[in-house]
Amino acid sequence: MIKKFLKRVFRKSAKVKKQGNAQVIPFALHGVACEQISYGAKRVTDGLQAAGYQAYVVGGAVRDLLLHKIPKDFDVATNATPEEIKRVFRRSRIIGRRFRLVHVMFGEELVEVATFRCKIEAEDAQTDEHGRLLRDNEFGDQEQDAARRDFTANALFYDPTTQEIFDYHNGYADTCNNVLRMIGDPLVRYREDPVRMLRAVRLSAKLGMDLDAATAAPITQMKSLLDNVPEARMLDEMLKMLLSGHSVECIQQLRQMGLHQGLLPLLDVIMEQPMGEKFVMLALKNTDERLSQDKSVSPAFLFAALLWHEVRCVWQRLVEQGERPVGAMHIAMEEVLAKQKKKLAIPHRHDAIMKEIWLLQQRFEQRSGQRPYRLLEQPRFRAAFDFLLLRCASDEVDNELGLWWDEFQDASDARREEMLRPDGVGVMVKKRRRKPRKKPGVVSEQAE
Ligand code: ATP
Ligand code: MG
Repeated sequence: MIKKFLKRVFRKSAKVKKQGNAQVIPFALHGVACEQISYGAKRVTDGLQAAGYQAYVVGGAVRDLLLHKIPKDFDVATNATPEEIKRVFRRSRIIGRRFRLVHVMFGEELVEVATFRCKIEAEDAQTDEHGRLLRDNEFGDQEQDAARRDFTANALFYDPTTQEIFDYHNGYADTCNNVLRMIGDPLVRYREDPVRMLRAVRLSAKLGMDLDAATAAPITQMKSLLDNVPEARMLDEMLKMLLSGHSVECIQQLRQMGLHQGLLPLLDVIMEQPMGEKFVMLALKNTDERLSQDKSVSPAFLFAALLWHEVRCVWQRLVEQGERPVGAMHIAMEEVLAKQKKKLAIPHRHDAIMKEIWLLQQRFEQRSGQRPYRLLEQPRFRAAFDFLLLRCASDEVDNELGLWWDEFQDASDARREEMLRPDGVGVMVKKRRRKPRKKPGVVSEQAE
């Protein structure tokens, strides 16, 4: 009680100092203690400062701590060059070609350390014909490093030694007021890097911050600039959105801003499937929930969910044309993946898992004989079962099937025997009728 009272009195008397163009916010005001900084980041700032350099925790981590959220990672910014940083830390390596960063390892933790950069002014800047910056890799000082960042809340520097925050763009007040505001002229900043529009959507949805009106206003009219962003970067940002733990809000906000159509192929895939929309939104909700419970989520599972209804459509068409179900599934998967690869640049490494999840879906229908036992032994059973539950929840398949498998997995041997269906019952897909063979006496082929 007394502690609280003293804290309040102390807070009232604490003042923001000016140092050059920075406001220096003392601990007594912001309340972020150095113990909240990760072990590795603290060791990095201590090590660099002891070697005579400036070093601060910067970006998302400071913002998240001010918002009472747990930071994803802790980045450090310094005036030491990559070579100088490397000399200070034994277990470190320089990465990146365009802009070199240093990764410093402390046990499991990896701290990314960047030298202050400056924003290249318009007349010297190398841009493409739409104004997108092609080069932003010049070293600078702390103030310049703040100016080249995107939002005011992302441009705060925290010194774990003095526990002060250095703020050049009023980011502390914005963060306290829950406002996400672009540094500088939003039109210019979106032109320099259109991905900032998506970052605005993602960060405001993820952090529950309000987008400042001037920051939000130009987005709808400037969305076509996203067409010029390299695919790999778009996919990267899309994945960040989908795995942000707030994917449902992100998608809703993208829709509100008209950013979902014609821009992001992956999103088009989602939105263009009226039938699949429920399924996809459930998959995203499920992902958000898993993340909030600190469970792992696999991008492959998510991609499999996003593309499922497209695969299903192609599969259905092929089956109607007389293709056998399993064969049709193989063709459908290849067709959809080939088409999406061109647009989306989904990394190949996810293909195998996506295909396994899709292929196993048909096998859930087979509930007789040895088949359910064999399915349980599949390494990808768990993911495929989670996928089945989503299909049940979206009314694509009967809930009863999900419940059956839920019980069967953990049932006793005796109960499992009871649960098994008589042979041939419950097979989703009708076997294709073969034309009567000319030669009598030939045994008909087994269903796949
Ligand atoms: P998250 O919590 O998702 O990691 P973040 O703000 O830390 O959010 P990062 O992508 O890790 O996002 O970027 C670290 C910092 O780099 C940001 O806080 C911001 O200051 C700066 N930054 C990142 N992307 C841009 C960009 N496109 N333009 C300007 N500054 C950027
Ligand atoms: Mg970050």
